[in-house]
Amino acid sequence: MDLQAILDDIHDSLSPRRGEGRVADYIPQLAHVDPKKFGMAVVTVDGAVHLAGDAQEPFSIQSISKVFTLTLALGKHGEAIWKRVGREPSGSAFNSIVQLEYEGGIPRNPFINAGAIAITDLVLAGHTPKEAIGEIVRFMRYLADEDDIIVDQDVARSEQATGFRNFALANFLRSFGKLDHAAELVLGVYFHQCALALSCRQLARAGLFLANSGINPLTGHRVVSHLRARRINALMLTCGHYDGSGDFAYRVGLPGKSGVGGGILAVAPGKASVAVWSPGLNDNGNSLLGSLALEMLAARTGWSIFGA
Ligand code: GLU
Repeated sequence: MDLQAILDDIHDSLSPRRGEGRVADYIPQLAHVDPKKFGMAVVTVDGAVHLAGDAQEPFSIQSISKVFTLTLALGKHGEAIWKRVGREPSGSAFNSIVQLEYEGGIPRNPFINAGAIAITDLVLAGHTPKEAIGEIVRFMRYLADEDDIIVDQDVARSEQATGFRNFALANFLRSFGKLDHAAELVLGVYFHQCALALSCRQLARAGLFLANSGINPLTGHRVVSHLRARRINALMLTCGHYDGSGDFAYRVGLPGKSGVGGGILAVAPGKASVAVWSPGLNDNGNSLLGSLALEMLAARTGWSIFGA
């Protein structure tokens, strides 16, 4: 299979549609990005890298960071994290507060905002916010095996200034006794993790351990156990695309996590890690072109976990 030819072909056929969809602007700094950007990266478990379009340009990974903080929290606290968050798709918007109220402060899953804030609270345990941010950045560098991964401070500040709903969610969690640290401290970390800037290439490298039973084939380091990798993939499949997770499983058939910056990380177990980026979002808040590109890639490679 000529993966590079497949990627080039997908990129070329979708290129005329660059700019479609709606760029997220509720975080003002995100609205400054060029809507025509479109990049794709596939890194196979044997380390081969295939790129197309703007695959080397860093973008705001936003909610994709939640996969990595979940991995860190599981490493620190093990299965005890499931006392704080559930493992079910939410069926409501990523920043919904209603469900949190009637479910007593236990967010449905680690990928909606409330759940991710609860997870960040666990990552913060025993640290100052600055240390926790440092730990997250170091973890991303370790996973991608690249030292130049940074936090985009403008994006972090922009969200800090406008993240009223996230403050509401965090305070709500705290009112239920489900947040150990003050809302401002947890959100200080959360906004920085969301503002991590990675290129498609770096992101695909960082996610590779999930495609390779928990071992990063680039470094040979075991990041998580086989079982844990499988479970994180299961959560990505069921909860990784807001209330469009069912549709993504139907169309693409791969565990994935999207972010409002227009990025998607997808995992083809045993095969490859894939990252796509196009800022225009569809009605569910997932990258419009990115989802289409992954649908085409899964169709041409036969990588869907539900069968070729
Ligand atoms: N930082 C964003 C927020 O909390 C992340 C949203 C997302 O990518 O889903 O609103």
